[in-house]
Amino acid sequence: MNQGRVVAGLVVTLIGVLAFWASMQMLFTDILSMDWALWTILLVIGSVGIGVGPVVAIVAYVKSTVEQQTWAQTEPQQVYSLPQRCKECGSEIGLHHLEWIGPDEARCPYCSAAVPVRRTGF
Ligand SMILES: [Zn+2]
Repeated sequence: MNQGRVVAGLVVTLIGVLAFWASMQMLFTDILSMDWALWTILLVIGSVGIGVGPVVAIVAYVKSTVEQQTWAQTEPQQVYSLPQRCKECGSEIGLHHLEWIGPDEARCPYCSAAVPVRRTGF
């Protein structure tokens, strides 16, 4: 949805740039016989497109980024908590060094003592 708005904003910007560029071309190449009404319309389209297009694209882009972050936060998360050191041998233990013997049970890699692991979901 928002990707479409980003593209629409960029297209409006592009049209604005082209209209502005066309009006400048008219001003510098054909000033004697130029159609001032058409020139005014092109300049207005150019100014509005350049002014509004990027704003639409940026707002849509930021909105879609915020929506993605909100979606990520609503995913269920889980947290493992374990002691910093093995209470048997005193070795520092990390989540990746543990020997897992069950979904919530692990052993110290140095002395094989059981390490209490708690898993919390939120
Ligand atoms: Zn140990």
